[in-house]
Amino acid sequence: MIYLDNAATSFPKPEGVYRAVDEVTRCTGNPGRAGHALARRAEAEIEGVRVRAARFFGTRWPERVIFTLNATDALNMAIKGFLQAGDHVVTTSLEHNSVSRPLAALARRGISFAKVGCDTEGRVDVESLKAAVMPRTRLVVLTWVSNVWGTVQPVEAVAEMCRRHGVKLLVDAAQAAGHVRIDMQAMGIDMLACSGHKGLLGPPGTGLLVLGADVDLLPWREGGTGVVSHQVSQPDFYPQRLESGTPNTAGIAGLGAGIDFLNQVGLPEVIGHESCLLGALREGLAAIPSVRVYGPARAADQTSLLSFNVEGWDPMEVAAVLDQSFGISCRAGLHCAPWAHQALGTYPTGTVRFSVGYFNTAGEIEQAIQAVRALAGAGR
Ligand code: PMP
Repeated sequence: MIYLDNAATSFPKPEGVYRAVDEVTRCTGNPGRAGHALARRAEAEIEGVRVRAARFFGTRWPERVIFTLNATDALNMAIKGFLQAGDHVVTTSLEHNSVSRPLAALARRGISFAKVGCDTEGRVDVESLKAAVMPRTRLVVLTWVSNVWGTVQPVEAVAEMCRRHGVKLLVDAAQAAGHVRIDMQAMGIDMLACSGHKGLLGPPGTGLLVLGADVDLLPWREGGTGVVSHQVSQPDFYPQRLESGTPNTAGIAGLGAGIDFLNQVGLPEVIGHESCLLGALREGLAAIPSVRVYGPARAADQTSLLSFNVEGWDPMEVAAVLDQSFGISCRAGLHCAPWAHQALGTYPTGTVRFSVGYFNTAGEIEQAIQAVRALAGAGR
């Protein structure tokens, strides 16, 4: 099997991730709820990962690293915890449903949004975002890397524009974390939401919301925190303000092991390997006459995923043949981002998406190209 669906969730995970999940499941209790050894061990695991995650993302406030179920959970927490009736939001046509659906739901409660378009390579420009900012605008929500086109967005320039206009920036880093260098403080990012199970190589059911020092959120769920239990209102300090109930201790430990792996290998090495694979993939697929590859012309503007279509084929059929006849796992369709396909003309059938990870090899990429060539050549 050749796994090219790393943008959905990474596979396989580093050995250390499997070990951490197993070990922590065997020897932890409920963190922060009691003083006994198993509870203390769980707390130590979680707080250790919080510190390592803060360092990884370039923030000085580990208590503002919030563990979530996935990127969707983190984005909902940020969007619904920050916005109030009467607010205006600027977002883009590249957003995933985990941004567009919460915004559409809030639009029914008096929070409006403007959707800014992109160029033909899937890039949003800062001037268009700036032009959409109004006096009522409090938030810009931007995906760092498009999960359809793989295009990297100019996050630092957008952060600078937001700062000048007194608007906060929420970055959806689901496809960026573990694939691009992130330094939240240096780059001026107010809130960053990401999955733990994609580029960070952690287990499913993990995600992160990282808050800068100047942003506060109302909790969108309340409950037990193990601290200030006499108080009927949710604690007003982090992370307890946003974390209630028994956490996914084993998953968080696995996420920590994923981050450790990236640090051991070195993020530049991971990025270099993935970019090399993607370059070969792009070149190989583009050389097949009936294949159209989408996305940026310059390799430097793209991370670890790309979209393509084969003339005369429905993307779903391409993915099914690649799976059944060639053992290649990939994703086809709209990738939960219908706006992006509407913007670039691949709606409603979508595209076939190949997404690479650190564990893919050059040989696998060559086999994938040959499979698409064989399929395209055979016709339908
Ligand atoms: N945003 C983007 C850009 C994504 O690609 C995804 C995953 N497809 C998400 C958000 C949601 O991630 P999760 O599955 O971790 O909730």
